[in-house]
Amino acid sequence: MFTQNDNFLKLPGKYLFSEIARLVSEHKAAHPQEEVISLGIGDVTQPLSPTVIAALHKAVDEMAVPSTFRGYGPEQGYDFLALKIIDKLYRSRGIEIERSEIFISDGSKSDTGNFAEIIGPDNIIAVADPTFPVYVDTNVMAGRAGEYLGEGRWSRIVYLDCTPENGFVPSLPEQPVDVIYLCYPNNPTGTVLNKTQLKKWVDYAIEHQAIILYDAAYEAYIVEEDVPHSIYEIEGAKSVAIEFRSFSKLAGFTGTRCGFTVVPKALKDLNAIWNRRHTTKFNGTPYIIQRAAEAVLSDQGWVETQKLVAGYMANAKAIRTCLTDLGLDCYGGVNAPYIWTKTPQNMGSWDFFHYLLQNAHVVCTPGVGFGPC
Ligand code: PLP
Repeated sequence: MFTQNDNFLKLPGKYLFSEIARLVSEHKAAHPQEEVISLGIGDVTQPLSPTVIAALHKAVDEMAVPSTFRGYGPEQGYDFLALKIIDKLYRSRGIEIERSEIFISDGSKSDTGNFAEIIGPDNIIAVADPTFPVYVDTNVMAGRAGEYLGEGRWSRIVYLDCTPENGFVPSLPEQPVDVIYLCYPNNPTGTVLNKTQLKKWVDYAIEHQAIILYDAAYEAYIVEEDVPHSIYEIEGAKSVAIEFRSFSKLAGFTGTRCGFTVVPKALKDLNAIWNRRHTTKFNGTPYIIQRAAEAVLSDQGWVETQKLVAGYMANAKAIRTCLTDLGLDCYGGVNAPYIWTKTPQNMGSWDFFHYLLQNAHVVCTPGVGFGPC
């Protein structure tokens, strides 16, 4: 008799962003005349830049000619993209990454989620609260989270509370943990760690033989000098950290799909294990998409990308200014596109979500979807 992975059934409710999408569709069907502004899932709205589009067209044309047609590519990605990543995103910041430490993928959601498969079943994980839900849910699926305690908490997960009192900078855990998920610039709070703050985590991981899974999907939004763009800017990080990066928010690839993960060779056998997982379960990001991503990192592509990012940051500034003028407490929006706001009059965050949708036709993400904090 077959059995099933019942861990999936332990997950309460639905994936946050699918639930929001459902509620928004219902609202649109009931109010077809209203224009809805979506500030819900962190999606992009602007088209791919001209240089990226030109590279895509060129790559598509190559697929039409026998001599330039490509079939299966390397599962870890093509060298032309990996080497460009190493050069443009790392070497330019004084960080040396080897080619075999880079794994190109279809995005960071898959990579952060799939990583839960290759860490030991008994590892204790730590997540910030609030946190991007993928980190918790994929550990529940892997059977590592224990039992659901209610209010978004699991018995075997260590939560690092982020509140206005600590400026949304989590304290080091008080009990031993093996795997620490950090996301900076942060979704959802929009806050960052400076180099000194991040160094504390790297030092902790070194001392406790833990690893840090560092999600830097929003790296492109950093403007302040003292904020690290990569965890590898911190001394010792290559012996304790895996870094996830994405072209989604960097260059509008949320629908185009491309990201990459850096798995240093110094981390026990994790590089070899991830390579084995990747080659067995993934057949590579499409050639045309990797050419498009390569174009993002070209000189002209980079200029255009910076303009896209600046546009989203102008939106963030407008939202933050408006909410502040209304007297609401706001965080983020400086080194990240996200604004984290205290709801007025202690309204619950789902109540505020419904209120905003009904009265202003604006979609936000209810904070409680990221954890009780
Ligand atoms: N990590 C964080 C923190 C995110 O907010 C998102 C998307 O919203 C992702 C990863 C997923 O990015 P991708 O589009 O590369 O899968």
